Amino acid sequence: MIDLHSHTDHSDGTSSPAELVEMARAVGLSALAITDHDTVSGYDEAAPSARGLELIPGIEITCKHGRDNVHLLGYFLHGDPGAEFRDWLKQTHEHRKERNRRLVARLNELGVDIRLEDVEAMGRIMTGRPHFARLLVAKGYAANFEDAFRRYLGEHAPAFVERQGPGLEEAVERIRAAGGLSSLAHPVRVEHADEAAERAFFDQMADCGLSAVEAFHTDHSEADTRRYLEFADYYGFGVTGGSDFHGSNKSGALLGVPRVDEEWLRKLRG
Ligand code: AMP
Ligand code: FE
Ligand code: FE
Ligand code: ZN
Repeated sequence: MIDLHSHTDHSDGTSSPAELVEMARAVGLSALAITDHDTVSGYDEAAPSARGLELIPGIEITCKHGRDNVHLLGYFLHGDPGAEFRDWLKQTHEHRKERNRRLVARLNELGVDIRLEDVEAMGRIMTGRPHFARLLVAKGYAANFEDAFRRYLGEHAPAFVERQGPGLEEAVERIRAAGGLSSLAHPVRVEHADEAAERAFFDQMADCGLSAVEAFHTDHSEADTRRYLEFADYYGFGVTGGSDFHGSNKSGALLGVPRVDEEWLRKLRG
């Protein structure tokens, strides 16, 4: 059993890398990919404590595709993504910082009394909306985490601020150039006008060299999973899957659920 999608407190998860590795052992995983948003530092910290567990360095990047944001996973099955890729990630940190400054300003306009330093103190390496959500709850501006997204931070909420990001095709290419495999994260969240538009999207992804699709995910129904397995088969994509575990920052996701067989990792390695 494997889990190829998880977050530590280096991004917006709530478990430290060492805690996550411990949990992975406890639930009986043989392989775990740490796929923090925009940073591999959680993996770096966890690597020495992995021992019997196969620990895979990964990444999750929020990409632009037309007017949509699409999440892309990257896996470095043969080890480190290297200096050039790590350097490229620094751009996304800049875009994040810029978004966070504007988000604080927007919240202040809406009468919310918070400062960027206080939000940054909620996280470690990168600061994301989940850290804003926790602070809004702590300061009594929202009843709970979900409420903070509903009232302020969600895509359709009044404080939502767009963040710059790489194009989807650029990110696929960056991951490939770093010796990694790219996988379309939770494809169910990518909206399409109709089935023909969805086909056209996957055609485009095949053309730009996408390696895999995340067929197994917490947000997928069994029917979704079957559909994405069929897409993978048709296009010759690999298959990945994982929980998208964020600790208490995503209540519905449990490490190791849904169950993903080791065989998929073997196939990815080819
Ligand atoms: P950011 O990358 O800083 O824009 O934050 C995005 C992260 O916020 C996602 O990866 C999720 O972990 C979380 N998130 C986004 N939308 C919601 C929502 N509506 N409810 C709960 N968490 C959310
Ligand atoms: Fe997240
Ligand atoms: Fe995601
Ligand atoms: Zn994720």
